[in-house]
Order: sequence, then structure tokens, then C-alpha cells
Amino acid sequence: MEFNNVLSKAMEVVKEYPLCDNCLGSLFARLGKGLGNRARGEALRRSIIMEIDRLRRVGELSKEEAERILSNLPHEETIKIAKELGLDLIEKKCYICGNEWEKLVEYWSDKIVRILREYEFNSFLVGCTDCGDMELKQREIIANFRLPFSESVKNSLKREVGKKVRDLLSKEPDFEDPDIIAIIDMSKDIVHLQIKPVFIYGKYKKVGRRTSQSVWKYPHSVEGALKEALKDFGGEVVLHAAGREDVDVRALGSGRPFIAEIKRPKKRFVKTEGREYWDGLVHLKFQGFIDRSYVSRLKNFDSLKDKVYLAVVYVPEGISEDELEALEDQFKEIIISQRTPRRVAHRRKDLIREKKLHWVKTKRLNEKSFLALIKCQGGLYIKELISGDEGRTEPSFSSFLGKEARCVSLDVVWVQSPW
Ligand SMILES: [Zn+2]
Repeated sequence: MEFNNVLSKAMEVVKEYPLCDNCLGSLFARLGKGLGNRARGEALRRSIIMEIDRLRRVGELSKEEAERILSNLPHEETIKIAKELGLDLIEKKCYICGNEWEKLVEYWSDKIVRILREYEFNSFLVGCTDCGDMELKQREIIANFRLPFSESVKNSLKREVGKKVRDLLSKEPDFEDPDIIAIIDMSKDIVHLQIKPVFIYGKYKKVGRRTSQSVWKYPHSVEGALKEALKDFGGEVVLHAAGREDVDVRALGSGRPFIAEIKRPKKRFVKTEGREYWDGLVHLKFQGFIDRSYVSRLKNFDSLKDKVYLAVVYVPEGISEDELEALEDQFKEIIISQRTPRRVAHRRKDLIREKKLHWVKTKRLNEKSFLALIKCQGGLYIKELISGDEGRTEPSFSSFLGKEARCVSLDVVWVQSPW
């Protein structure tokens, strides 16, 4: 079982197993880089034929033995030469592929090309999860004869199908980060597709007061508008936003930054830069494609970034200009300590958050209400900053004024850009 000569090793294998050129070549695939398995197998088959002819001539091999070995090299050329040598061969099929290798490569390349024609992409890769029993059969031979230079069936199939697909579609394979990976599953006779998602950066404005951010129980949502705006990509659209506002809060002014992720896109060469969408309640402005790594950055940095809100505040007991002036003086570069508000307690952890409030600017509207422009760190709950949430937020407009204050309406008017 020692391996000290390629030809004698190949001869040993062929004495036991019938093998086509490709499968014989695959057992020595790492020798003679660039040859290709088929050429490798062909060279070995022809050398074996010559060696058998020599052994016959010097009387070292019986006719039966010669016929047995050559029958294990199923190829038209072998039959022709055997006839010249006066040998009768039995028809055999390759133990690994059943003489189907070329057909398999063709079958899977055609199938993949047909599927990939429905998608836009620049680069691709062919993979294989399941090669039926070919893999097992080849492994049996490799183990029996200790063949350290072999290449797995999966690998050679991936490579050969990949080359065909490249030629048929004039697209380049990419081993690092392809747009699409087509994975062959022979047992199930299907091709699985792994499609790289597309990410688009933009900002949204929300003008509707009964408009949710994600598709939820309200008929209108930012995510719904996004799905409509990006439907020409032909994939599933998911919204990743820098924070969120309540359903009844509008997002105006600068708009709120978001990243749209399109999963399994059929089209990816769609122009997005400068594109806008407006459905009467939601306005979207797209700024172009962005790397996927920005999604986590967008979410992580949100709470550190500043926001400006505009609130209409109602004070049932009435409010004076002097009180507003004092309020502006008090709420300047201070830390607001805020225990999770009761209204969101069911979905957020109960803890105390400390957020910075930069300033408040007010304008008295009438005896009982005023406008407040508030600049603070992202994540501060504004409705509770005003009401105090029964002492859970401290200080609050309510606690400072010593009377009830209520947020009547709220808009986000400026969100600091995340990068
Ligand atoms: Zn074969």
C-alpha cells in the first residue's frame, strides 16, 4: 500500500475499481496543478494501457488479468486499443459517477444558470452540500488505497460547474464575498441560493400622528412606506432605524436616519442616491448604498446622539411668562434621571436611565399652554420629562412648576446624523 509511484498506485486502484478519466484523475488531483482531473485521468489511463501491453509482451501478465484491468478503464479509446491487442473487455461503469460526470456537470450548470438569470449580480460562487453517494464511494477508495493527493467529489463538482457557469453568464466567481452563492443539493435535486442583502441609507419624515414605525396594528407605517418605495428590488424590505418615536409623535425637520435592508434582492443595480418617496404621511429620502456594518453602528450610537423635540405642553392650573423663564433657566445642561415609564414598562427593562438635557426654549401660547423646544440626548422620554410620571422622572416640568403639566403633542424635529 506504499505510495512511491503514481503509475503503480493508479494501477493498484484500477485492479479493484472501474473508474472514468475524471474520477481516476480526482484521486491524484493535487499532483500536476493546472492539468485538470480529466487530463490527469486520461494520462494515467493511457500509461496503464501501455504498461499492460508491455507486461503482456514480456509474458508477465495473463490475458484474463489484462482484460480485467482494462475493463476497469471504461472509455471508447480503451475498447479500441484492446481490440487491436486481441483483448475482450466487459462493459463497466465508473464506480464513483457511473460514467455520468460530464452529464452531471452540464445538468447542474444549466440548472444554476437558469435560476441565476432571474437575479442581478456581479459575482457568484458555486457550493455543494450534498453529492449523493458519490462522495462515500470516493472516500471508500481513498481510505482503501491511502491516496493523500485526492480531491473530494464536492470540490471538483463545485469547481467544474463554477467554470461552466462563469462562461455561460460571463460573470466572475468571487471566493471572498460573492453577491450570490448557488449551492447544489444532489439528493434533493435542488439549488439553494444564498443572496447577499443590499443596504440603503436614508432619512424619513413622519407627518401622520397615527403612523407607526414598523408594520404593526396601525394601517400606516414607515416600514410599509419603505416596502412600497423599494419594491423594485424584488426582495423583503426591513427597516433599521436610529431610535423610534411613538405612534402619535411626528418626525419632521432633519428626518430620522435609517437603513433599509433588502433581503434576497432580485435586482441590486437600482439607483437609490437622491431618490425620494412621499405617500402623504411618510416622506423617505435615500442617500445611496451603505455597508452592512453600519446597521449595528446606527443602533448602538443612537442613544449617544442628540435630538431636538417640539412639544405642546398643557398646564391645567395656568402658566405665566415668569414661570417659563425660570423653567428655561433650570433646564439647562442638566442630568435627568428617569425610571422606565409605566407606559412602556411591559416591553422595556425596569431601570433608571440618566440622560443629558441641553436646553429648553419656550413660547407661551395662551394662559394654559406653551410650546417647548427641547434638545437632549437620544433615549430621553419627553412625555415623562414634562409630566414627571408620578415621580419616576426627576426633575420634570411638573415637579419644577409644582403643578400638573401634560404633553399634548410631540414632534421630533432634528436628529443628529449618526456619522
Ligand atoms: Zn467517474
